[in-house]
Amino acid sequence: MSLPKTVPTPPEITETLPQEERFTIPAHVDRWDEYFLNIAKAVSIKSKDPKCPVGAVIASGDNVLLTTGFNGLARGVHDDEQTLMDADEKLRVICHAENNAIMNAARMGVALLGASIYVTKFPCLACCNAIIQSGIKKIYTHDDCFWNDDPFDKEHSRKKQILHDARIEVNAPFHPAFKPTEQITVPKRKTAKKPAGSAKDSGGELFDNKR
Ligand SMILES: [Zn+2]
Repeated sequence: MSLPKTVPTPPEITETLPQEERFTIPAHVDRWDEYFLNIAKAVSIKSKDPKCPVGAVIASGDNVLLTTGFNGLARGVHDDEQTLMDADEKLRVICHAENNAIMNAARMGVALLGASIYVTKFPCLACCNAIIQSGIKKIYTHDDCFWNDDPFDKEHSRKKQILHDARIEVNAPFHPAFKPTEQITVPKRKTAKKPAGSAKDSGGELFDNKR
């Protein structure tokens, strides 16, 4: 199959996906990365965060699912609605999905060395550190918002540097700072209407992401 030579410009997503669109999964997928990314979407529905539910799954190098996590307060901690509605308070106390997935593995004595993480939002700086330290080697995400609320790395430069230094492979086809390393099929998704003459929506195409 002939493939485009360059990674297309990420579509500009200006509206939050409606809930039913976020959780739509295909009837069949061939690729393991698509399989685990769809599981990550399903995992996110357990989150009580009304604005930003996140799901993460971690799989071994031979594609066995090792652990899952969603964003939420720590086990046993009362998560009242007020805390989750207050953005500042939420950021202070909530455990991120990636960190929860890693901690759940630690809880069960599951090693993550050489594993891959599939997450619905691009990891924040703290989670990137946790990913590196746990031995995970690859990050996959279809996130098109890039976790802009990360208070420690709004420009993404720190994340980019540490992931590069630690030789973590990142497959994030919509992220302008992280070029995917291999082909990844991007599912169709709704985008905000663009003015006439603007770049065409690239959703649903098979990208040639080799670098
Ligand atoms: Zn995080």
